[in-house]
Amino acid sequence: MTASAPTTPYIGRFAPSPTGELHLGSLYTALASYLDARAHGGRWLVRMEDLDPPREQAGAADSILRCLEAHHLPWDGPVVYQSQRQQAYRQALQQLTEAGLTYPCDCNRQRLKQLSAYDGHCLRHPPQGQPAAIRVRATGNCQISFEDLFQGPQQEDVAERVGDFVVRRKDGLFAYQLAVVVDDIAQGITHIVRGYDLLDSSGRQHYLFGLFGQQPPHMGHLPVLVNDDGQKLSKQTFAEPLDPGLANVNLFRCLHALGQHPPSELRHEPASTLLQWGIDHWLRQRVPHQAHLYARDMMTLA
Ligand code: GLU
Ligand code: ZN
Repeated sequence: MTASAPTTPYIGRFAPSPTGELHLGSLYTALASYLDARAHGGRWLVRMEDLDPPREQAGAADSILRCLEAHHLPWDGPVVYQSQRQQAYRQALQQLTEAGLTYPCDCNRQRLKQLSAYDGHCLRHPPQGQPAAIRVRATGNCQISFEDLFQGPQQEDVAERVGDFVVRRKDGLFAYQLAVVVDDIAQGITHIVRGYDLLDSSGRQHYLFGLFGQQPPHMGHLPVLVNDDGQKLSKQTFAEPLDPGLANVNLFRCLHALGQHPPSELRHEPASTLLQWGIDHWLRQRVPHQAHLYARDMMTLA
């Protein structure tokens, strides 16, 4: 695999899974990655992570794109759909397999639940029948450390904390960890801005970048918006879809919750004015250094 040579020093992306409509939590992430890219003169790509059909909702991908447009968040270039990228994932997996780094695993959920890190059972006792997942070996350079754009220094030993991890699932679908790295390499992504819940995946992704001989992008993890019960806003927690007619209110709330302190005169300005202010005044160090923000606290603004 080769990375496309970056023509600008910054290429960012927003990578929603089309499991439902855009809600305040996903707008918050989209806005932060957009502002960080534009404030650095970068490109901003959208990738639809439609990798897991059973979890997806018909029409959600289009509705997410229309909602980004309604919020004046234009992306660069064509939208990439992971459902069209199977060939690239197959090749990447083959590359790992040819390097002797993969093996099949048929451990069941119950067994895996008892382990904190995978114990390599199926490496020592290869499964005989099908179906099996494919794991990549966490071996060699597994000590990951990086400076998160918002949360500061991070460290993880992938072998110790996760162990050999799944790159193709038992049901035959490619795992998020593999697909996301293959696509970030193919699209030449230099900066990833996304939710704190994915910080947990960042060590495995750094490790995979290394296996493919690539420099990992800079990564920044934002607080995740949660409901009163502390659950991440999502379709499952009945997060309300955004009203595109209230684009400026939604954006004002998100800017505020990103710690950017938009002046209150901006409340009634059109979305495009708010966004220009956001680009001109974007400061990474103002983004809250925490895992969660209560969505309720945002509703009292504007
Ligand atoms: N598709 C993932 C999600 O919606 C985001 C993946 C990423 O940004 O790496 O949570
Ligand atoms: Zn196993």
